[in-house]
Amino acid sequence: LSDKLDKALHVLKGHGSITEVNVAETLKEVRRALIDADVNFKIAKDFTNRVKEKALGQNVLTTLQPGQLMVKLVKDELTELMGGDASGVNLSGNPSVILMSGLQGSGKTTFSGKLANFLKTKKTKKPLLVACDVYRPAAIDQLHVVGDAIKVDVFSDRDNTDPVAIAQAGVAFAKANGHNVVIVDTAGRLAVDTEMMNEIANIHKAIQPQETLFVVDAMTGQDAVNTAKAFNDILNFDGVILTKLDGDTRGGAAISIKSVVDKPIKFIGTGEKMEAIDVFYPSRMADRILGMGDVVSLVERAQEQFDEEEARKLQKKIAKNQFGFDDFLKQIQQVKKMGNMKDLMGMIPGAGKMLKGVDIDDDAFKHIEAIIHSMTVEERTNPGVINSSRKKRIGKGSGTSVQQVNQLLKQFNQMSKMMKMMQGGGGRKMMQAMSR
Ligand code: GDP
Ligand code: MG
Repeated sequence: LSDKLDKALHVLKGHGSITEVNVAETLKEVRRALIDADVNFKIAKDFTNRVKEKALGQNVLTTLQPGQLMVKLVKDELTELMGGDASGVNLSGNPSVILMSGLQGSGKTTFSGKLANFLKTKKTKKPLLVACDVYRPAAIDQLHVVGDAIKVDVFSDRDNTDPVAIAQAGVAFAKANGHNVVIVDTAGRLAVDTEMMNEIANIHKAIQPQETLFVVDAMTGQDAVNTAKAFNDILNFDGVILTKLDGDTRGGAAISIKSVVDKPIKFIGTGEKMEAIDVFYPSRMADRILGMGDVVSLVERAQEQFDEEEARKLQKKIAKNQFGFDDFLKQIQQVKKMGNMKDLMGMIPGAGKMLKGVDIDDDAFKHIEAIIHSMTVEERTNPGVINSSRKKRIGKGSGTSVQQVNQLLKQFNQMSKMMKMMQGGGGRKMMQAMSR
């Protein structure tokens, strides 16, 4: 998926000018990628249509960086589709009762433990786990093992074969013993069937949980949607838990489920350990689905480090034709402040793969800095005075060659030219110059 999207967005990223055909082509790729990630065809189609409308509405084609704006539109729309802000579980009621539902193997028992552990760290919560999977003796044992590991009490009754009665007894036990959260783990089947649905519906009716959660294995793809729909029709559940998002799973199921049942995804499971639980953040999942790397945090980090004051000063200098090597040096330092080069590169979409096995010199700017440091103040502010004898001296002083000095001077000249063009409001001109 990530390869396809990389390809799609690549068309836009580098290019200064894109056409309407370009936008359509890109969105076609995005749609294909979503379908590959198990997003239902119609949902994917509606999605790209919405992005297209927004793109045209915002005049993407006339902006300076259309590619970036497109990426942002796709991502924002995806985030919106998966539910906007993160939402927690309802813990009103004393005790607050949380019912788990879902197929066998989806991760209900594991997640029950994770959630109890998660809530336990809030000092005011004292959870109780209730074992209602009466079909496999091992299921009760499994919940006890989990409870022991996280030091949370487990209520079970091996002599009782009625899960409804056990659930009720569990809630009563919680009330009597000062547990303010009850997490009811239930039995699932390998596929949706009437017996399972009746059973979970009966438990639901008997204990009236504040929160009913549907647990689903993210790896099951398109099937997850049908299962979610079946459970939602019976339970009208409050939220979805997406498990097994560790590994390669792209999580396209998140989009489909959200679109079909319109319930928030509340937590994700990212491993078998009790700590492998995360609150669901739609925007992070959007990144994951798009395989875009952590573009957003890269931008955020850059912004954090960027000194507004410096920027203003710099603009004045460019306007007055006074941009010199000292300013260039400052720019480099600015970039370096943003962090380790390899980390930064890794956040760029597609770059992660490229960099595998490649050793990036963290001091990629070492030579450049050395050369600039060997210049006199005059040479830095007025690079035009650097003649061949000066070049020799600078090369010697910085431990580089005349060739390297020449190269830097050339780069610097190009950059200065470009900046002047930008100042002249010639954004397009600059883009043209860059693509040449
Ligand atoms: P249940 O039948 O719904 O209760 O499912 P279980 O909680 O017993 O989980 C089934 C299997 O999936 C177990 O082997 C778990 O260790 C595993 N599992 C559960 N959640 C996760 C997860 O987030 N990541 C991974 N990798 N495995 C998980
Ligand atoms: Mg279980």
